[in-house]
Amino acid sequence: MPQKFEFRRHATDGRARAGEIETPRGTVRTPAFMPVGTAATVKAMLPESVRATGADIVLGNTYHLMLRPGAERVARLGGLHRFMNWDRPILTDSGGFQVMSLAGLRKLTEEGVTFKSHIDGARHLLTPERSMEIQALLGSDIVMCFDECPALPATEAEVAASMRLSMRWAERSRTAFGDRPGHALFGIMQGGVSRELRAESAEKLREIGFDGYAVGGLAVGEGQEAMFGVLDYAPEFLPADRPRYLMGVGKPDDIVGAVARGIDMMDCVLPSRSGRTGQAFTTRGVVNLRNARHAEDPRPLDADCTCPACRGYSRAYLHHVVRAKEMIAGMLLTWHNLHYYQCLMAEMRDAIGEGRFAAWRAAFHSGRAEGDIAPV
Ligand SMILES: [Zn+2]
Repeated sequence: MPQKFEFRRHATDGRARAGEIETPRGTVRTPAFMPVGTAATVKAMLPESVRATGADIVLGNTYHLMLRPGAERVARLGGLHRFMNWDRPILTDSGGFQVMSLAGLRKLTEEGVTFKSHIDGARHLLTPERSMEIQALLGSDIVMCFDECPALPATEAEVAASMRLSMRWAERSRTAFGDRPGHALFGIMQGGVSRELRAESAEKLREIGFDGYAVGGLAVGEGQEAMFGVLDYAPEFLPADRPRYLMGVGKPDDIVGAVARGIDMMDCVLPSRSGRTGQAFTTRGVVNLRNARHAEDPRPLDADCTCPACRGYSRAYLHHVVRAKEMIAGMLLTWHNLHYYQCLMAEMRDAIGEGRFAAWRAAFHSGRAEGDIAPV
């Protein structure tokens, strides 16, 4: 295997960028959407089905995998790729974001975070060093720095203190990661909605030096306007020749807006989670298949979509299996949603490559409706 990790930009259009990340396990076309495989599975999907939607890379969660089945066990079984039967690139998060969401169950110190497992109540200490060790045991291709994300609402002083702690942890993560050819370490910018703090964080990360950079601390309930407000300047603080990753985003229009502002990679549970609750993303907006209006509709969910749910089944059938809580409902709608997201990314890559991204974006927004829609 070639032991390299390389980001190549093929085109820029406005601030939007199209390119590819080359890794020893395969190429990731950017802008990229990464389906979330929390517990070593993208829920309701076989790995080959995930690949068939067009995904080049999936995300795994350090927090969940360290608790169950345990990183050492995954390593003994040949690593995460082999364990979950996905031989393409995997990005793992650091566990920092998930332990933050444990709120009352965690204790933060300079050393790291002590927390109680949500599974069996056992006490764990997660530090930058341990997070790097876990992600190495899993065999992750793209490793994320261990960081702290303050719970909202937070004062500017709290956001500043948290960001500076994350930067000290970024340095410790870099040291602990060491030299691992073919594997990449991404730094994570923090600083909330403060331009000054974002600039300070980016400067510190650039000084340490990473293979890629994430914009962290967004999509935590601040709303799209505030998020775009930060993305209007923050990506520009990061090196142009490295991939930029916006963590935990988002809805289709969040993704389009982020790409327009210079983001290259995103992940979100939304397409898979929505699929399991009967929600489908389409070019015209969100369709709720629980709605009675679909009960006798023989047409496909989306006549233009080539996914198995749209090729083989009617809206009436999808409505029926959603209502009857049949497993196939989650399987078909997850597939459709992931397919929709990957088509969206492919269309953006083409539009950026051909210098017509602004026109594509205008067409994307026209004809979309808010809330549950009745597709024609
Ligand atoms: Zn479909």
